[in-house]
Amino acid sequence: MEKTSTKLSGRIERLEPSATLAMSAKVRELKAQGVDVISLSLGETDFFTPDVVKDAAKKAIDDNYSFYSPVAGYPELKKAVCHKFKRDNNLTYEPSQVVVSTGAKNSIYNVMQVLVDKGDEVLVPAPYWVSYIEIVKLAEGTPVVMPTDISTNYKITPEQLEAAITPRTKAIIYSSPSNPTGAVYTREELKALAEVLAKHPNVYIISDEIYEHINFTPEGHTSIAEFPEVYNQTIVINGLAKAYAMTGWRIGFIGAPAWIAKACDNFQGQVTSGTNSVAQIAAVTALLADPEEVVKPMVEVFARRRELVLKGLAEIPGFKTDIPYGAFYAFPDISEYKGKTLRGHKINTSDDLCMYLLAEAHVGLVAGSSFGNDNCIRLSYAASEEVLSEAIRRIKEALTE
Ligand code: GLU
Repeated sequence: MEKTSTKLSGRIERLEPSATLAMSAKVRELKAQGVDVISLSLGETDFFTPDVVKDAAKKAIDDNYSFYSPVAGYPELKKAVCHKFKRDNNLTYEPSQVVVSTGAKNSIYNVMQVLVDKGDEVLVPAPYWVSYIEIVKLAEGTPVVMPTDISTNYKITPEQLEAAITPRTKAIIYSSPSNPTGAVYTREELKALAEVLAKHPNVYIISDEIYEHINFTPEGHTSIAEFPEVYNQTIVINGLAKAYAMTGWRIGFIGAPAWIAKACDNFQGQVTSGTNSVAQIAAVTALLADPEEVVKPMVEVFARRRELVLKGLAEIPGFKTDIPYGAFYAFPDISEYKGKTLRGHKINTSDDLCMYLLAEAHVGLVAGSSFGNDNCIRLSYAASEEVLSEAIRRIKEALTE
């Protein structure tokens, strides 16, 4: 797009605002007007941060953790991150390979800035998380979208990957468990993708594992970095937001080859510096705590909510939902509603359906178009069973008259 008459940069004019944040802002606005809106738009748990973590933060304040931290994070936090990688993923990282940032989104941004030059291609399997494309564009890279559909459970195949790689391909970015589909690549599937990527050592793998712990498969989580043939070309993205109910604390981190971590450290030093000191100290406690105690109880609740939502969505005519194996989203296909008119609202796109459901059912959802699939909508089930049941009832009512 050409620069228009405003005084803002072309960069910001070309930037799409985050659809997840836009919808949650809309919901907040309606709530402030007194409308009884249910928000299932934002990927944010309704749980409170575990008490041990809150206590650690309070102590950090009293202990005067009020100064700048090292740019890449306190040494004790980097050590705790290394411990987490070993414990949960059997991955060996030295502290020099770890950079702590202001949320996983900030980590992804840093990595893209240090790796991607103008015109470099970055593969983005769709459906993708809303911010990937924009973060690639901000690095002047060219996003190359790889479409998938329900027939492969929204996962790319090794053949598709091989065919998409060109001499300009610099990286691939994806999430497993996936936001927005909830798809989880099995170990075998990741191994097959790793074999393709190992043949292209200059293609970097940005593996977003922020939903690692919210995984309902018996096999559990696999990180692609576990395959030695791609360890040296993989950047693992993770953070505390989702599993530890710490969205607002903004702690994300990477495990990466040391030269990439060093570059992120340099970059961050000119942009944000080290992230919040108190949150970092609290994160040490979170990462060193036993996940069975602080994470598992929340995951068990998500498992029950998932059942409830899948059962509810199955009863809504015209919705086709792929079973989500991880994260806390359902991503039903709503294409049957396209072309219909509901209560005088013409539905041509997933955005139209979301706006209709917001206006008529007072339920906030996010249109699939922002995730690269206009046939679907995203529902976050990180809400109580009572709220979810009511939301499903309202959606059904608005769609079945
Ligand atoms: N990652 C969450 C989501 O997809 C939080 C909002 C955001 O940063 O986009 O809803």
